[in-house]
Amino acid sequence: MKCEKCGVAVPSEEKFEHSGKTLCEDCYLDIVTIPKTCDPWAVHSAKNTSLISDGLTSEQREILDLIKKDGPLTAEEICNQLSINGNELQRNFATLRHMELARGFKKGNQVYYTLFNDREV
Ligand SMILES: [Zn+2]
Repeated sequence: MKCEKCGVAVPSEEKFEHSGKTLCEDCYLDIVTIPKTCDPWAVHSAKNTSLISDGLTSEQREILDLIKKDGPLTAEEICNQLSINGNELQRNFATLRHMELARGFKKGNQVYYTLFNDREV
């Protein structure tokens, strides 16, 4: 066996495997002890999370704010207050529902929209 990095002969009982490569102990330790001062994936996912919470369109934000302030509200009330039509509401609400920010529930024959974590209804 030879170390694939430095080419030194490695007895098979002393070889190390890393990313499918056979390495001597020195090269292996070089690789695994590189200090991880920066974890690009941790930064990436943290950024992603804040993007999701702020990634609403202005319409979605308005619907959410209105529900927060005056909810639960019927579709008609939301459409009237925001001057949007039912289709726009449905389309935007689907996103809010998918993001678990808002939900609909049925009371009598009427469907109401409220915050996803509203426990009172
Ligand atoms: Zn080596």
